[in-house]
Amino acid sequence: FLKVYWSYGGHIGRQEKGLFYALDLGGTNFRVLRVQLGGKEGRVVKQECDEISIPAHLMTGTSQELFDFIAAALAKFVASEGEDFHLLEGRQRELGFTFSFPVKQSSIASGTLIKWTKGFSIDETVGADVVAELSSALDRQGLDMKVTALVNDTIGTLAGGRYDDNDVVAAVILGTGTNAAYVERANAIPKWHGLLPKSGDMVINMEWGNFRSSHLPLTEFDQALDAESLNPGEQIYEKLISGMYLGEIVRRVLLKMTEEASLFGDDIPPKLKIPFILRTPHMSMMHHDTSPDLRTVGAKLKDVLGIQGTSLKTRRLVVDVCDIVAKRGARLAAAGIHGVLKKLGRDIPGSDKHRTVIAMDGGLYEHYTIFSETLENTLREMLGEEVSSSVVIKLANDGSGIGAALLAAAHSQYL
Ligand code: ADP
Ligand code: MG
Repeated sequence: FLKVYWSYGGHIGRQEKGLFYALDLGGTNFRVLRVQLGGKEGRVVKQECDEISIPAHLMTGTSQELFDFIAAALAKFVASEGEDFHLLEGRQRELGFTFSFPVKQSSIASGTLIKWTKGFSIDETVGADVVAELSSALDRQGLDMKVTALVNDTIGTLAGGRYDDNDVVAAVILGTGTNAAYVERANAIPKWHGLLPKSGDMVINMEWGNFRSSHLPLTEFDQALDAESLNPGEQIYEKLISGMYLGEIVRRVLLKMTEEASLFGDDIPPKLKIPFILRTPHMSMMHHDTSPDLRTVGAKLKDVLGIQGTSLKTRRLVVDVCDIVAKRGARLAAAGIHGVLKKLGRDIPGSDKHRTVIAMDGGLYEHYTIFSETLENTLREMLGEEVSSSVVIKLANDGSGIGAALLAAAHSQYL
């Protein structure tokens, strides 16, 4: 399932200096970020970021509307730049663009969209250069800024992770969607026919969300979800694991339990029929409810699904469904990480003693505790105690954004 190969020209040195921006378009939200880099000693001197949610209608509207919205938000953020950020004399502001969708990258600062995922669907953007789209929108805003790096969130997280920890070998995203990237010796990549980088290392963006296999435990709920999705047949692994879908799987299971076993009484609650009404954060809140009468479960069922007066027994069943769906996703994600470590030879006990660090980013992993704990336990189970004692999953908060700013700096037009 390796789809896109991406080499980043030279590792990021630690000498980059100055003010750089990043824009991270993920799925649910986008983030704008500025960092002041202080070079070898200073590293990241200061950073600021802002998060803006993307109105749903823009995800399926026109390319220009989407990019204009993003550019306007960025312009507003730039206007709020304080005096403790310093653009070097005579320089244009530079930006790293984290664009977390499958891209055919043609150079460090250009690439065409292969397909949308995660609920986006704008036909005219497919095949277009997303940097050109963004740059035109920046022009329309009158914002003088140059996009010097186009990166995927996995690549950004990997770059940002390695900047502060040399032992980072892979990056994993568990947010709205899921993906991973890892560092590979270039000569181990048979598909690669281009120039070899000086370091001998290359980064592989796996696009693992698109993995599918007859071994994946697809149920009727997964099959129906996929068939009714914006991208049927695609991103199957992602549809079992990531934040966009877990709540929706739970809704489908609850609906079936209502239809066939009157889980919520004789009538089917109308809201339970609405796709994506139950979001993963709702599911997570119900799942983590520790009150004896499962008060939060009751409240969510009422507020989100309009279901009143549930019994404790019913609430327990709802929690059980959340538990099964979350743990299945977490265990599958752990299996993916195990696969990467195996490929890198980091799964063998006693072979060498260095640390193996995985940089992790994404709201699902960050906020859904039972999910992240299950993932870690499963990985330990698969690796065994000895190996897992040297494996660390590091939450790289905003890793993909900072990494993009670093890559923008590393590819500055002024170097
Ligand atoms: P992306 O960059 O892919 O848009 P983020 O990393 O910001 O995503 O993560 C957002 C996703 O994380 C949401 O779509 C949601 O599924 C999940 N998420 C956010 N908060 C929670 C929560 N409290 N519990 C479970 N999942 C959450
Ligand atoms: Mg993201």
